[in-house]
Amino acid sequence: MKFQLFFLTIIISVGVNSVRCSDSQNKSKLIIIGAGSSGIAAATKLVAEGFEDFIILEAENRIGGRVHTIPYEGDASIDMGAQWVHGQEGNPVFQMAKEHQLVKEECPSYSGIMLVNSSRVPMDKDVDHKLLKMMDEIINEHDEDMLKYNGSLGDYVLDKLRATLNNNASLSHYLSSPRFEESFEFFGKFENSVDGSDSWFQTSAKGVAKYDLLKGCNVVVWKKGGYGNVLKLLLKQLPGQTPIDLGKKLILNKEVNKINWSDPSNILVESADGTIYTGEKVLITVSLGVLKTRPDLFVPPLPSWKKDAIEGLFFGSDAKIFLRFPHKWWPDEVEGFSLFWT
Ligand SMILES: Cc1cc2nc3c(=O)[nH]c(=O)nc-3n(C[C@H](O)[C@H](O)[C@H](O)COP(=O)(O)OP(=O)(O)OC[C@H]3O[C@@H](n4cnc5c(N)ncnc54)[C@H](O)[C@@H]3O)c2cc1C
Repeated sequence: MKFQLFFLTIIISVGVNSVRCSDSQNKSKLIIIGAGSSGIAAATKLVAEGFEDFIILEAENRIGGRVHTIPYEGDASIDMGAQWVHGQEGNPVFQMAKEHQLVKEECPSYSGIMLVNSSRVPMDKDVDHKLLKMMDEIINEHDEDMLKYNGSLGDYVLDKLRATLNNNASLSHYLSSPRFEESFEFFGKFENSVDGSDSWFQTSAKGVAKYDLLKGCNVVVWKKGGYGNVLKLLLKQLPGQTPIDLGKKLILNKEVNKINWSDPSNILVESADGTIYTGEKVLITVSLGVLKTRPDLFVPPLPSWKKDAIEGLFFGSDAKIFLRFPHKWWPDEVEGFSLFWT
Protein backbone atom coordinates (compact mmCIF):
# COMPACT_ATOMS: atom_id res chain seq x y z
CA MET A 1 0.00 0.00 0.00
CA LYS A 2 1.09 3.51 -0.64
CA PHE A 3 0.98 5.44 2.57
CA GLN A 4 0.85 9.10 1.71
CA LEU A 5 0.71 10.48 5.21
CA PHE A 6 4.39 10.91 5.85
CA PHE A 7 5.61 14.12 7.34
CA LEU A 8 3.77 16.54 5.09
CA THR A 9 5.55 19.77 5.62
CA ILE A 10 5.12 23.02 3.85
CA ILE A 11 8.17 25.02 4.62
CA ILE A 12 8.37 28.58 3.51
CA SER A 13 11.38 30.57 4.38
CA VAL A 14 11.55 34.28 4.12
CA GLY A 15 15.12 35.32 4.01
CA VAL A 16 17.09 38.40 4.96
CA ASN A 17 20.25 39.98 6.26
CA SER A 18 19.83 42.16 9.28
CA VAL A 19 17.49 42.68 12.22
CA ARG A 20 15.98 45.91 13.50
CA CYS A 21 13.86 45.72 16.63
CA SER A 22 13.40 47.70 19.77
CA ASP A 23 12.74 44.71 22.03
CA SER A 24 15.92 42.64 22.01
CA GLN A 25 14.21 40.00 24.19
CA ASN A 26 12.02 38.92 21.27
CA LYS A 27 14.73 39.08 18.65
CA SER A 28 16.38 36.01 17.14
CA LYS A 29 18.03 34.99 13.91
CA LEU A 30 15.45 32.30 13.22
CA ILE A 31 11.84 31.78 14.26
CA ILE A 32 10.45 28.26 13.83
CA ILE A 33 6.67 28.18 13.74
CA GLY A 34 5.25 24.86 14.96
CA ALA A 35 6.73 22.27 17.30
CA GLY A 36 5.47 19.17 15.51
CA SER A 37 7.98 16.55 14.41
CA SER A 38 9.23 18.86 11.61
CA GLY A 39 9.81 21.82 13.94
CA ILE A 40 11.46 19.62 16.58
CA ALA A 41 13.62 17.90 13.94
CA ALA A 42 14.78 21.30 12.65
CA ALA A 43 15.46 22.62 16.16
CA THR A 44 17.44 19.58 17.33
CA LYS A 45 19.48 19.56 14.11
CA LEU A 46 20.33 23.24 14.58
CA VAL A 47 21.39 22.67 18.20
CA ALA A 48 23.52 19.71 17.10
CA GLU A 49 25.23 22.01 14.57
CA GLY A 50 25.93 24.60 17.28
CA PHE A 51 23.26 27.10 16.20
CA GLU A 52 21.35 28.40 19.21
CA ASP A 53 19.90 31.75 18.13
CA PHE A 54 16.34 30.63 17.45
CA ILE A 55 12.94 30.25 19.09
CA ILE A 56 10.02 27.93 18.38
CA LEU A 57 6.48 29.27 18.62
CA GLU A 58 3.88 26.54 19.13
CA ALA A 59 0.12 27.16 19.31
CA GLU A 60 -0.67 24.14 21.48
CA ASN A 61 0.36 23.43 25.06
CA ARG A 62 2.48 20.46 23.96
CA ILE A 63 5.00 19.51 21.32
CA GLY A 64 4.42 16.82 18.67
CA GLY A 65 1.54 18.18 16.57
CA ARG A 66 0.12 15.24 14.65
CA VAL A 67 2.45 12.92 16.53
CA HIS A 68 0.44 12.55 19.70
CA THR A 69 0.87 9.48 21.87
CA ILE A 70 -1.20 9.36 25.02
CA PRO A 71 -0.82 6.92 27.92
CA TYR A 72 -3.44 4.20 28.23
CA GLU A 73 -3.34 1.44 30.82
CA GLY A 74 -0.21 -0.02 32.37
CA ASP A 75 2.61 0.66 29.94
CA ALA A 76 0.22 0.71 26.95
CA SER A 77 -0.33 3.87 24.93
CA ILE A 78 -2.54 5.13 22.12
CA ASP A 79 -1.37 6.98 19.03
CA MET A 80 -3.93 9.65 18.25
CA GLY A 81 -2.00 10.57 15.11
CA ALA A 82 1.00 8.89 13.46
CA GLN A 83 1.34 5.23 14.43
CA TRP A 84 3.30 3.15 11.91
CA VAL A 85 6.76 3.65 10.49
CA HIS A 86 6.28 3.38 6.75
CA GLY A 87 9.26 1.72 5.11
CA GLN A 88 12.71 0.87 6.33
CA GLU A 89 15.37 1.65 3.71
CA GLY A 90 16.27 5.33 3.72
CA ASN A 91 13.74 6.09 6.45
CA PRO A 92 15.42 8.19 9.17
CA VAL A 93 12.67 7.38 11.69
CA PHE A 94 13.20 3.65 11.18
CA GLN A 95 16.96 4.00 11.37
CA MET A 96 16.86 5.93 14.66
CA ALA A 97 14.25 3.59 16.13
CA LYS A 98 16.09 0.42 15.11
CA GLU A 99 19.34 1.66 16.60
CA HIS A 100 17.59 1.84 19.98
CA GLN A 101 15.61 -1.41 19.49
CA LEU A 102 12.35 0.48 19.74
CA VAL A 103 10.57 -1.20 16.82
CA LYS A 104 9.50 -4.78 16.21
CA GLU A 105 11.59 -6.86 13.82
CA GLU A 106 8.70 -8.79 12.27
CA CYS A 107 6.40 -7.10 9.79
CA PRO A 108 2.69 -7.64 10.51
CA SER A 109 1.00 -9.55 7.69
CA TYR A 110 -2.57 -8.83 8.76
CA SER A 111 -3.51 -12.19 7.24
CA GLY A 112 -5.90 -12.79 10.16
CA ILE A 113 -8.15 -9.87 9.23
CA MET A 114 -11.78 -10.98 9.05
CA LEU A 115 -14.02 -9.47 6.37
CA VAL A 116 -17.57 -8.88 7.59
CA ASN A 117 -20.43 -7.02 5.99
CA SER A 118 -22.76 -4.62 7.75
CA SER A 119 -25.39 -7.35 8.11
CA ARG A 120 -22.82 -9.16 10.32
CA VAL A 121 -22.25 -11.80 7.64
CA PRO A 122 -18.63 -12.90 7.17
CA MET A 123 -17.63 -12.32 3.58
CA ASP A 124 -16.50 -14.99 1.19
CA LYS A 125 -12.79 -14.86 1.96
CA ASP A 126 -11.71 -16.51 -1.30
CA VAL A 127 -13.68 -14.22 -3.57
CA ASP A 128 -13.21 -10.98 -1.68
CA HIS A 129 -9.54 -11.49 -0.93
CA LYS A 130 -8.96 -12.29 -4.59
CA LEU A 131 -10.67 -9.08 -5.68
CA LEU A 132 -8.85 -7.00 -3.07
CA LYS A 133 -5.51 -8.53 -4.07
CA MET A 134 -6.22 -7.72 -7.72
CA MET A 135 -6.90 -4.08 -6.88
CA ASP A 136 -3.80 -3.92 -4.71
CA GLU A 137 -1.70 -5.22 -7.63
CA ILE A 138 -3.34 -2.80 -10.06
CA ILE A 139 -2.20 0.11 -7.88
CA ASN A 140 1.16 -1.13 -6.75
CA GLU A 141 2.56 -2.95 -9.72
CA HIS A 142 1.73 -0.72 -12.67
CA ASP A 143 3.44 2.59 -11.95
CA GLU A 144 4.48 3.14 -15.60
CA ASP A 145 0.93 2.69 -16.82
CA MET A 146 -0.54 4.83 -14.05
CA LEU A 147 1.90 7.65 -14.82
CA LYS A 148 0.29 7.97 -18.26
CA TYR A 149 -3.26 8.01 -16.90
CA ASN A 150 -4.89 11.42 -16.55
CA GLY A 151 -7.93 10.40 -14.51
CA SER A 152 -8.56 9.56 -10.88
CA LEU A 153 -7.26 6.60 -8.94
CA GLY A 154 -10.81 5.20 -8.58
CA ASP A 155 -11.42 5.37 -12.35
CA TYR A 156 -8.04 3.80 -13.07
CA VAL A 157 -8.67 0.83 -10.77
CA LEU A 158 -12.23 0.40 -12.05
CA ASP A 159 -11.10 0.36 -15.71
CA LYS A 160 -8.27 -2.07 -15.00
CA LEU A 161 -10.29 -4.36 -12.77
CA ARG A 162 -13.10 -4.61 -15.32
CA ALA A 163 -10.61 -5.36 -18.08
CA THR A 164 -8.83 -8.03 -15.99
CA LEU A 165 -12.09 -9.77 -15.10
CA ASN A 166 -13.46 -9.53 -18.65
CA ASN A 167 -10.31 -11.13 -20.00
CA ASN A 168 -10.45 -14.07 -17.63
CA ALA A 169 -13.26 -16.54 -18.29
CA SER A 170 -13.03 -18.07 -14.81
CA LEU A 171 -13.38 -14.68 -13.11
CA SER A 172 -15.71 -12.72 -15.40
CA HIS A 173 -18.81 -13.75 -13.39
CA TYR A 174 -17.51 -11.56 -10.52
CA LEU A 175 -18.44 -8.52 -12.57
CA SER A 176 -22.16 -9.08 -12.05
CA SER A 177 -21.83 -10.30 -8.46
CA PRO A 178 -22.61 -8.03 -5.47
CA ARG A 179 -19.11 -8.97 -4.25
CA PHE A 180 -17.65 -6.80 -6.97
CA GLU A 181 -19.36 -3.63 -5.86
CA GLU A 182 -18.81 -4.28 -2.14
CA SER A 183 -15.13 -5.08 -2.59
CA PHE A 184 -14.59 -2.11 -4.88
CA GLU A 185 -16.26 0.23 -2.41
CA PHE A 186 -14.32 -1.20 0.51
CA PHE A 187 -11.01 -0.89 -1.31
CA GLY A 188 -11.81 2.71 -2.24
CA LYS A 189 -12.42 3.53 1.42
CA PHE A 190 -9.21 1.81 2.41
CA GLU A 191 -7.32 3.84 -0.21
CA ASN A 192 -8.93 7.00 1.16
CA SER A 193 -7.59 6.22 4.62
CA VAL A 194 -4.14 5.70 3.12
CA ASP A 195 -4.20 8.80 0.92
CA GLY A 196 -6.09 11.08 3.33
CA SER A 197 -8.76 11.64 0.68
CA ASP A 198 -12.54 11.75 0.91
CA SER A 199 -13.06 9.94 -2.38
CA TRP A 200 -10.58 8.06 -4.51
CA PHE A 201 -12.35 9.57 -7.50
CA GLN A 202 -10.66 12.83 -6.42
CA THR A 203 -7.20 11.32 -6.00
CA SER A 204 -4.87 11.61 -8.97
CA ALA A 205 -3.74 8.20 -10.27
CA LYS A 206 -0.59 9.85 -11.61
CA GLY A 207 0.09 11.43 -8.20
CA VAL A 208 -0.16 8.03 -6.50
CA ALA A 209 2.20 6.50 -9.07
CA LYS A 210 4.73 9.27 -8.49
CA TYR A 211 4.75 8.64 -4.75
CA ASP A 212 7.94 6.87 -3.73
CA LEU A 213 7.37 4.04 -1.33
CA LEU A 214 10.38 3.27 0.85
CA LYS A 215 11.54 -0.33 0.65
CA GLY A 216 11.10 -2.79 3.50
CA CYS A 217 8.18 -3.31 5.84
CA ASN A 218 5.58 -0.62 5.31
CA VAL A 219 3.86 -0.95 8.66
CA VAL A 220 6.66 -1.19 11.21
CA VAL A 221 5.21 -1.31 14.72
CA TRP A 222 6.73 0.24 17.86
CA LYS A 223 7.43 -2.18 20.71
CA LYS A 224 6.00 0.28 23.23
CA GLY A 225 5.57 4.00 23.63
CA GLY A 226 4.12 4.50 20.13
CA TYR A 227 5.17 7.11 17.59
CA GLY A 228 5.85 9.59 20.42
CA ASN A 229 9.21 7.81 20.62
CA VAL A 230 10.25 9.84 17.59
CA LEU A 231 10.17 13.02 19.68
CA LYS A 232 12.23 11.33 22.40
CA LEU A 233 14.71 10.16 19.77
CA LEU A 234 15.05 13.65 18.30
CA LEU A 235 15.40 15.24 21.73
CA LYS A 236 17.76 12.47 22.89
CA GLN A 237 15.59 11.67 25.89
CA LEU A 238 16.20 7.92 25.96
CA PRO A 239 18.05 6.29 28.87
CA GLY A 240 21.80 6.81 28.54
CA GLN A 241 21.46 9.86 26.27
CA THR A 242 22.26 13.48 27.04
CA PRO A 243 18.95 15.25 26.44
CA ILE A 244 18.77 18.29 24.19
CA ASP A 245 17.21 21.00 26.32
CA LEU A 246 15.29 23.47 24.18
CA GLY A 247 14.61 25.42 27.38
CA LYS A 248 13.40 28.95 26.77
CA LYS A 249 13.73 28.51 23.02
CA LEU A 250 10.46 26.57 23.00
CA ILE A 251 7.44 28.78 23.63
CA LEU A 252 4.15 26.88 23.96
CA ASN A 253 0.63 28.35 23.77
CA LYS A 254 1.82 30.90 21.20
CA GLU A 255 -0.41 30.84 18.17
CA VAL A 256 1.06 32.91 15.37
CA ASN A 257 -1.52 35.20 13.81
CA LYS A 258 0.55 37.29 11.44
CA ILE A 259 3.86 37.09 9.63
CA ASN A 260 4.76 40.52 8.39
CA TRP A 261 7.58 40.25 5.89
CA SER A 262 7.02 43.62 4.19
CA ASP A 263 10.51 44.60 5.32
CA PRO A 264 12.45 41.47 4.50
CA SER A 265 15.32 42.59 6.69
CA ASN A 266 13.07 42.59 9.74
CA ILE A 267 10.34 39.95 9.76
CA LEU A 268 7.68 40.56 12.40
CA VAL A 269 5.86 37.52 13.74
CA GLU A 270 2.82 38.38 15.81
CA SER A 271 1.15 35.96 18.20
CA ALA A 272 -2.52 35.88 19.22
CA ASP A 273 -1.72 37.65 22.52
CA GLY A 274 -0.15 40.55 20.61
CA THR A 275 3.52 39.71 21.32
CA ILE A 276 5.79 40.58 18.41
CA TYR A 277 8.88 38.49 17.67
CA THR A 278 11.43 39.51 15.07
CA GLY A 279 13.66 37.23 13.08
CA GLU A 280 15.99 37.18 10.13
CA LYS A 281 14.41 33.98 8.86
CA VAL A 282 11.17 32.18 9.54
CA LEU A 283 10.73 28.44 9.16
CA ILE A 284 7.05 27.58 8.91
CA THR A 285 6.06 23.99 9.62
CA VAL A 286 2.29 24.40 10.02
CA SER A 287 0.12 21.97 8.10
CA LEU A 288 -1.34 22.47 4.65
CA GLY A 289 -4.74 22.75 6.35
CA VAL A 290 -3.58 25.71 8.41
CA LEU A 291 -2.09 27.38 5.33
CA LYS A 292 -5.34 26.85 3.41
CA THR A 293 -7.54 28.35 6.12
CA ARG A 294 -5.22 31.24 6.97
CA PRO A 295 -4.60 33.24 3.79
CA ASP A 296 -4.40 36.31 6.06
CA LEU A 297 -1.35 34.89 7.85
CA PHE A 298 1.09 36.63 5.52
CA VAL A 299 1.54 40.37 5.07
CA PRO A 300 2.10 40.98 2.22
CA PRO A 301 0.36 37.86 0.83
CA LEU A 302 2.54 35.03 -0.47
CA PRO A 303 3.50 35.14 -4.16
CA SER A 304 0.88 33.63 -6.44
CA TRP A 305 2.93 30.51 -7.26
CA LYS A 306 2.96 29.61 -3.57
CA LYS A 307 -0.71 30.47 -3.11
CA ASP A 308 -1.59 28.36 -6.15
CA ALA A 309 0.28 25.38 -4.71
CA ILE A 310 -1.48 25.74 -1.34
CA GLU A 311 -4.90 26.08 -2.97
CA GLY A 312 -4.25 23.40 -5.61
CA LEU A 313 -3.20 20.68 -3.18
CA PHE A 314 -6.33 19.02 -1.85
CA PHE A 315 -6.87 16.68 1.05
CA GLY A 316 -9.79 15.08 2.85
CA SER A 317 -10.10 13.93 6.42
CA ASP A 318 -8.61 10.95 8.18
CA ALA A 319 -10.00 9.89 11.52
CA LYS A 320 -9.15 7.25 14.07
CA ILE A 321 -11.78 5.96 16.47
CA PHE A 322 -10.70 3.88 19.48
CA LEU A 323 -13.24 1.39 20.80
CA ARG A 324 -12.91 -0.18 24.19
CA PHE A 325 -14.71 -3.44 24.99
CA PRO A 326 -15.19 -4.86 28.50
CA HIS A 327 -13.71 -8.17 27.41
CA LYS A 328 -12.09 -9.80 24.39
CA TRP A 329 -14.95 -11.41 22.45
CA TRP A 330 -13.14 -12.22 19.21
CA PRO A 331 -11.27 -15.46 18.51
CA ASP A 332 -7.50 -15.49 19.07
CA GLU A 333 -6.70 -16.01 15.41
CA VAL A 334 -8.62 -12.88 14.36
CA GLU A 335 -6.26 -9.90 14.11
CA GLY A 336 -8.91 -7.40 13.11
CA PHE A 337 -12.02 -6.72 11.09
CA SER A 338 -12.60 -5.05 7.77
CA LEU A 339 -16.14 -3.81 7.44
CA PHE A 340 -17.97 -3.93 4.13
CA TRP A 341 -21.04 -1.75 4.02
CA THR A 342 -23.91 -3.19 2.02
C1 LIG B 1 -4.80 10.43 12.16
C2 LIG B 1 -3.39 10.48 11.56
C3 LIG B 1 -2.67 9.31 11.41
C4 LIG B 1 -1.37 9.35 10.88
N1 LIG B 1 -0.66 8.17 10.78
C5 LIG B 1 0.63 8.21 10.38
C6 LIG B 1 1.43 7.03 10.43
O1 LIG B 1 0.95 5.96 10.84
N2 LIG B 1 2.72 7.12 10.03
C7 LIG B 1 3.27 8.31 9.57
O2 LIG B 1 4.46 8.33 9.21
N3 LIG B 1 2.54 9.43 9.53
C8 LIG B 1 1.24 9.42 9.93
N4 LIG B 1 0.49 10.56 9.95
C9 LIG B 1 1.11 11.79 9.43
C10 LIG B 1 2.04 12.44 10.46
O3 LIG B 1 1.40 12.49 11.72
C11 LIG B 1 2.35 13.85 9.99
O4 LIG B 1 2.83 13.80 8.67
C12 LIG B 1 3.41 14.52 10.84
O5 LIG B 1 3.14 14.37 12.21
C13 LIG B 1 3.47 16.00 10.44
O6 LIG B 1 4.42 16.66 11.24
P1 LIG B 1 4.69 18.21 11.03
O7 LIG B 1 5.59 18.66 12.11
O8 LIG B 1 5.11 18.45 9.63
O9 LIG B 1 3.25 18.90 11.17
P2 LIG B 1 2.33 18.97 12.47
O10 LIG B 1 2.47 17.75 13.29
O11 LIG B 1 0.98 19.36 12.02
O12 LIG B 1 3.01 20.16 13.30
C14 LIG B 1 2.72 21.50 13.04
C15 LIG B 1 2.67 22.22 14.38
O13 LIG B 1 2.40 23.59 14.10
C16 LIG B 1 1.50 24.07 15.09
N5 LIG B 1 0.79 25.22 14.55
C17 LIG B 1 -0.18 25.26 13.60
N6 LIG B 1 -0.57 26.51 13.36
C18 LIG B 1 0.16 27.30 14.17
C19 LIG B 1 0.22 28.70 14.39
N7 LIG B 1 -0.57 29.56 13.71
N8 LIG B 1 1.09 29.18 15.32
C20 LIG B 1 1.91 28.35 16.01
N9 LIG B 1 1.90 27.01 15.83
C21 LIG B 1 1.04 26.50 14.93
C22 LIG B 1 0.60 22.88 15.37
O14 LIG B 1 -0.05 23.01 16.64
C23 LIG B 1 1.58 21.72 15.31
O15 LIG B 1 2.13 21.41 16.57
C24 LIG B 1 -0.80 10.57 10.47
C25 LIG B 1 -1.54 11.76 10.62
C26 LIG B 1 -2.81 11.71 11.16
C27 LIG B 1 -3.56 13.02 11.34
